[in-house]
Amino acid sequence: MPRLYFDANATTPPHPETVEAVRRAMEEDWANPTSTHREGQRARHHIEEARREIATTLDVAPGELVFCASATEALHLLLRGLQPALGDRPAAVFPGEHSACLNPLRDWSRVAWLPEVPTDCATVVQMAASNETGILYDMPTVLDALRIRDSVQAWGKVPVTLAGCDAAVFSGHKMGGPRGAALLWMRPGLPWEAVMEGPQERRRRGGTEDLPAILGLAAAVRHLPERLELNAALVPLRDAFEAEIRAWGRDLEVLGQGSARLPNTSCILFRGRNGEALQAALDLAGFAVSTGSACHSGSVKPSHAITTLGYSSDEARSVLRFSMLPGTRADEVEALAAGLKPLV
Ligand code: PLP
Repeated sequence: MPRLYFDANATTPPHPETVEAVRRAMEEDWANPTSTHREGQRARHHIEEARREIATTLDVAPGELVFCASATEALHLLLRGLQPALGDRPAAVFPGEHSACLNPLRDWSRVAWLPEVPTDCATVVQMAASNETGILYDMPTVLDALRIRDSVQAWGKVPVTLAGCDAAVFSGHKMGGPRGAALLWMRPGLPWEAVMEGPQERRRRGGTEDLPAILGLAAAVRHLPERLELNAALVPLRDAFEAEIRAWGRDLEVLGQGSARLPNTSCILFRGRNGEALQAALDLAGFAVSTGSACHSGSVKPSHAITTLGYSSDEARSVLRFSMLPGTRADEVEALAAGLKPLV
């Protein structure tokens, strides 16, 4: 049996047309898009075409999108760039937010944890979907505060809307795009200043643009409609997997069951078991799964995204996350369940 990959929330393989777009751009479009000669202008034209195409799918104006190298970078640019104008007021933040979002908030005077919303709150930060549990979250309606959406895990898995948001981030490598391409979207007029200076991206993000990654991202975006369909088709597979393992009579719990969730994610608490050991045993058996977000793997710290839901540190250490790629088949999920059963 070939190895089976159930870690789509960590990263996804690039779509074949992404690979082709990256390859072609590296061979043909390697000129610097800032150069004024014909080669440079051709590269510039392709970036702007990609920006227009992606903006259309997100229903925003092309000039509102900033190409970045990762969502981590986009969140740092966003939150550090808002800090001088807003950082002396509190930010109200979902406690299960990814560390890419929590780290740049360290410069802010105070972080309040949602649902607490201080009266003088400057911004509300709420991820669309949890990378660990897959639970989907609405944007809280808070007046007079900037609403920031981390859409990284939702993009390509469930429909994404920016209605009611002022800024959002997206990452290419979670939806069949390449590493090195991500988006920062900001509504015009935010009290934001650039923190990575340079002439590129209308002075909002300095650094020579990664044209191959950007064109690879545009290619992946072209396939978002079919990706959404393939992900939606995972719901019965996910539900059958969870029903199967619940039927084993072990002391386990499906986190987020009963909540609206990503179609591809099962986050299971195996009480009394060590998640790291289970993950390693599954790896040996041919299955790539995760104990939590990739950033936590290898670290002994329990995941804050799990403890935030009211679970103890020991319980958080007993969690495995199974996240399916679009197109995963029922027999592959059955093989995973069969591989897992003797281990728990
Ligand atoms: N936000 C969420 C919810 C994520 O899951 C991740 C990555 O796991 C990030 C942000 C960071 O994305 P990137 O890998 O593009 O830096």
